[in-house]
Amino acid sequence: MSPISVRPAIERLDPYSPGLSIAEIQQKYGLTQVIKLASNENPLGASPLVLEAIRRHAAYAFRYPQGGNPRLVKALAELHGIDQSRIVAGNGSDEIIDLLIRLFAEPGKHSVVCFEPCFSIYPIQSRISGVEVRRCPLNIARNDFSFDFEALLNLVDDKTRLVFITTPDNPSGYCPPRQAVKTLAGRLAEAAPCCLLVVDEAYIDFADDEAAFSLLASRDLPENAVFLRTFSKSYALAGLRLGYGILPHSAAECFWRARLPFSVNILAEEAGLASLADTAFRKATLAAVREGRQVLGRGLAEMHCQVWPSAANFLLFQLPPKGIPAKTCFEALLEKGIIIRRLESYDLPEHLRVSVGNARENAAFLAAMRDILGGPPSGARPGAEFRSQ
Ligand SMILES: *Cc1c(COP(=O)(O)O)cnc(C)c1O
Repeated sequence: MSPISVRPAIERLDPYSPGLSIAEIQQKYGLTQVIKLASNENPLGASPLVLEAIRRHAAYAFRYPQGGNPRLVKALAELHGIDQSRIVAGNGSDEIIDLLIRLFAEPGKHSVVCFEPCFSIYPIQSRISGVEVRRCPLNIARNDFSFDFEALLNLVDDKTRLVFITTPDNPSGYCPPRQAVKTLAGRLAEAAPCCLLVVDEAYIDFADDEAAFSLLASRDLPENAVFLRTFSKSYALAGLRLGYGILPHSAAECFWRARLPFSVNILAEEAGLASLADTAFRKATLAAVREGRQVLGRGLAEMHCQVWPSAANFLLFQLPPKGIPAKTCFEALLEKGIIIRRLESYDLPEHLRVSVGNARENAAFLAAMRDILGGPPSGARPGAEFRSQ
């Protein structure tokens, strides 16, 4: 018996389950070509300006980064037209989520409220911290994965310190209008003045009309709200780990006091600055995702899959009823060298999530799906409908 004694919260913990990696699947199936549409990464790869910035700064890898990432903070403040004192940066928005929980919720005393299912980092990091998680089911009964803010608020009491929502949501792609989020913030401020509303906008720039969904984009910031954004998706830096947040001034000050001093490394900071400067790449990314979302949505609908409307760079779907199970389809895709995402860790074993890829990847995915589902060839059901949100 090992004498190591682990905290019970860790012993009981179900860890985060990441998408399968390309290397894993190449090895397992002896494939050379693998298409990964599992982790909502950028379909266009890395920006050329970012690659150039990384090359230029590689020689400084021996230096510590400047504390507080001031250049990045300044650039983000300018991007959003917000005072620098409210901007925080972290090793992915994952680090910011983790630190928010540790800054504001005391173990064994306070609670965090979120939907079920939701992005699993919120409940996992809360449990690691020993903080109670209260979960409100999404409107799965209505089959639209929409948010019941009334029911969410019912879980909040004077011991709740953080309420997390994801707009657009992962894994459904659903996004509430910004006015609904504003109303929620107002009601939360009345019900629980000490509680912050964390609005995770990781995917919001993929929406056809970002300003219709984002309070941040429309510069309408409730005093009790935190906005999270990431460089992992539309800015194409998932592997370098960089995220940021807009916090109330006093909360941002606490954040910087407690954050590990060098969690954003030199190359991530330089790449972040370069990706903000590469507006052409970003424009191309958003256009490719919006177009690809339509192509995938229509293609899946033609195969009689149920596809949920999405404002993000992925689609949630279900296979035709009475056909093969989701697991069988997922594995058949793997054998063909295509990785998508199963959602059993979200308690949705019959749903699948596919990230929007580039034109070649989307076509390969749809062709493989047609093969697996054995349906008629492409376009056989021209009335098939899909709408992005
Ligand atoms: C991908 C994603 C993030 C981004 O996480 P990073 O740590 O910045 O890579 C944040 N929230 C949600 C809901 C996500 O799906």
